Amino acid sequence: MQKILQEAIDNNRHWTAHGAVASYIPELAKENPDALGVCIYNIDNTTLCAGDSHTKFTIQSVSKVVTLICALMDKGKETVFSSVGMEPSADPFNSMVKLETRESHKPLNPFINAGAIVCTSMVQGDNGIEKFNRIHNMIKIMADNPAIDINQSVYRSEKLTGNTNRAIAYYLKGAGLIEKDVEDVLDTYFKLCSIEITALDVAKMASVIANNGITPWSNERLMSIEICRIVKAIMTTCGLYDSSGQFSVDVGLPSKSGVGGCIMAVAPQNMGIAVIGPALDSHGNSMAGKKVLEYLANELNLSIF
Ligand code: GLN
Repeated sequence: MQKILQEAIDNNRHWTAHGAVASYIPELAKENPDALGVCIYNIDNTTLCAGDSHTKFTIQSVSKVVTLICALMDKGKETVFSSVGMEPSADPFNSMVKLETRESHKPLNPFINAGAIVCTSMVQGDNGIEKFNRIHNMIKIMADNPAIDINQSVYRSEKLTGNTNRAIAYYLKGAGLIEKDVEDVLDTYFKLCSIEITALDVAKMASVIANNGITPWSNERLMSIEICRIVKAIMTTCGLYDSSGQFSVDVGLPSKSGVGGCIMAVAPQNMGIAVIGPALDSHGNSMAGKKVLEYLANELNLSIF
């Protein structure tokens, strides 16, 4: 298995040269475009890593998985999906075009920025700090790592330059889809994107979902089987934005990408996988990370289809 993991890195490292690090958040432009790493956390509690797996990166949109989990736990399926849809968007992650053209103004799904901002506002808490703490704690518990914290320079950079997200959030507020103060919700969203993490942390988080909501290391139920089922379904249909269809064909695992270069993948009843490769394709997904997952899915016969 270690050999397969090493091959997945070695055979696909050249793909890093075909992507580019995110530059619309200035602090992310400082990431190393050549980095490529992978970690697997099996539900039998064994773990394997290869490549630059110790690289620290910001979680970015992978946090949207945990935001959705918390919103579902706190408000229930009916309430969450009354304010956000469950259909793939076929538009870029930060697009706002369909907010206005659809009659309900509901964001299409929880994994585009608009949908995640609505879900953030639905999480339990009287204000942004309480909502952030709720999701941050869940990330720490799912990763079994109490030291996980915000990267302050990325947070400042996101907050300073996040004008598209600000436009989205104010539109949603106008449409009556955001509870409470809109700047407070945005601040929480920027903080969540800026959480600094490693591939092992993300692999462990994915292993909880793979294990139907139970931590493999302490046998503790963190969420219901139904929430895991919903989250895996949305990851499969919407997790890689407007290339989710192709990713399902090539890899076939419920997954979620982020512009920090991470992709979280869930092999149900089997393992959690995290790849990190900050050079992105034109959809904002890790260029070489996708190829590493494709290699592993083929070699280990992991596709759910
Ligand atoms: N912080 C990023 C943004 O809101 C997250 C997007 C992403 O990872 N796709 O633009």
